[in-house]
Amino acid sequence: MTDPENSPKIRVLGPEVVNQIAAGEVVERPASVVKELVENAIDAGAGSITIALTSSKDAITAIRVTDDGSGMSHVDAELAFVPHATSKIRSVDDLQHIRTLGFRGEALATIAAISRVTLVTKRRNEDIFPGIRIMNEGGTIREKTETGAPEGTSVLVEDLFYNTPARRKFQKNKNTELAHIYELLEGIGLSHPDISFHLRLNGNEVLVTDRTNRSLDTIARLFGSEVPPDLIPVNVSLPLLTITGYISRPVLARKDRARMLISVNHRYVSSLPLNEAIKAGYGTLLARDRFPVAFLSLDIDTSLVDVNVHPAKKLIRLSREREITDAVRTSVRDALFSHDLIPPVEAPAGTGHGIPLPAKASIYDLDPRHPPAGVFEPTHTGTSMTDKRLRQTELSIEAQPAYRVSSLLPEIEVIGEFGGIYILARTDQEELLLIDQHAAHERILYEQVSGYAQMMRPSQELISPLILHRTPKEAALIRELLPALAGEGFLIEGFGGDSFIVRAVPVILGRVEETGIIDEIISDLVSGESSQSVSNRERITRIIACRGAVKAGTVCTREQCQRIVDQLRLMQNPFTCPHGRPTMIRFSRKELDSLFHRI
Ligand code: ADP
Ligand code: MG
Repeated sequence: MTDPENSPKIRVLGPEVVNQIAAGEVVERPASVVKELVENAIDAGAGSITIALTSSKDAITAIRVTDDGSGMSHVDAELAFVPHATSKIRSVDDLQHIRTLGFRGEALATIAAISRVTLVTKRRNEDIFPGIRIMNEGGTIREKTETGAPEGTSVLVEDLFYNTPARRKFQKNKNTELAHIYELLEGIGLSHPDISFHLRLNGNEVLVTDRTNRSLDTIARLFGSEVPPDLIPVNVSLPLLTITGYISRPVLARKDRARMLISVNHRYVSSLPLNEAIKAGYGTLLARDRFPVAFLSLDIDTSLVDVNVHPAKKLIRLSREREITDAVRTSVRDALFSHDLIPPVEAPAGTGHGIPLPAKASIYDLDPRHPPAGVFEPTHTGTSMTDKRLRQTELSIEAQPAYRVSSLLPEIEVIGEFGGIYILARTDQEELLLIDQHAAHERILYEQVSGYAQMMRPSQELISPLILHRTPKEAALIRELLPALAGEGFLIEGFGGDSFIVRAVPVILGRVEETGIIDEIISDLVSGESSQSVSNRERITRIIACRGAVKAGTVCTREQCQRIVDQLRLMQNPFTCPHGRPTMIRFSRKELDSLFHRI
């Protein structure tokens, strides 16, 4: 008789359960499957890899990765599905010298545990045996047949997560998943310019790279031919590591890190220390919240790189991290210093582009603490542009009786402006005010845009529609935002491939003479490590406010400053911008007196 109290409560889990648990770490989402299969193809020495995705209206339904690599023998093809079976390492020692992308031997086993996998493979230069097809469902081999097949391997994954309902539900919408896949292939494509990649979605080519030995070609293919001219090469060979690739001139700076793509020993990795080292190399050339574009490939002694940090192998741990990040920072800085960063107004005869200038001259020109003389002179066109921007908000204030009649602020009289950034003013209560002109106008626009409450926000048609070209990843994100954008008054439609046509924009943006602002708004929306805490509507409102507002550095006339201040007084919350920064600092007469030790 077994005593229920004394029978063991601890049990060793069966292999299916173990595999499902492991799968949770390796196969987080459809992009993880693509990653593992593509990495296997690269490890197999492929020169060409095709990723074919099939999708329904709202999900990715099948993933097929085909390569022209080494292929597998019949025995290996079956072993490939066994957990912890790998051809890539044999001993603990080998972990110190990993040159392949895989080595844990768990990808195929775990993918098969949670889907239906059909593998077809034929060994390269193998005349005697035909290819083999193996079908594995939920971790069990269901079918094994000899078959004719081209040299190489093809793996088809269907019914992903069919037996893990929680994971299936957790999948974000299709476009988010596609964006992850595009991003991944951008990274992998860049770290392997010598392989040609074809990504297809329902039969249509969405991303292609050609085999090349010039990574600049791959960059142009992936990010557009307008990118390379703004890049500066980095080529450094040090005892500890070599660094090759490209970084951007500061003009290409972005709001997020999405275009900092780094590979270490041909593995596309995500590494905060390396990102920060690159950013640090720019020093004051970039604002604190801006990030450069960088496509860098690092070669580091394998014994210093631990890729066995997480099953997905995207994170790495570096030994001698300090020396490595120092080297990266210095190399980035040196590359920047040795290049003329601003195109010369008048190039001296005989000098071409990219001729090294005395380093300090070019850096100082861009240092905000040393503005070149004349930059803040208001120009005539500048003044009338500002006027247009101001009028947009003034007109709609009149149209909206909902605004406060009594202000939270006393009467304000503008005294002057400082640096094109601050408005100096006094109140009728003996106070001195310093007002941030951009933050104030941003607040005004913000309250107006949100003032349209729950209804559709009115839009106006553009006289000539604007065409936007985007990378596949950005396009997927835009597609996801289209309904939210429509609710805000942006009428945007697909325009073939990854292009869009903008037909109408919110009225609040005023008559949009420069279409650049629309481009900027859309870019902001898809970039930005999108803070999940605010709704799309709120994000769009904030971005419209920020982009539509008079920019810091725009010198306004006294009369314009007064108009901004008068509008600000009507706001529900005149004290902060939509991001929570103060719009003004107040000094009472008493505070000033005490600062001057008058009392
Ligand atoms: P790992 O890549 O870590 O070794 P996987 O589960 O991804 O583990 O693959 C198991 C083994 O199957 C690999 O070691 C390799 O020998 C073989 N294999 C997988 N995919 C391919 C492929 N596309 N071409 C050739 N061999 C492959
Ligand atoms: Mg693998």
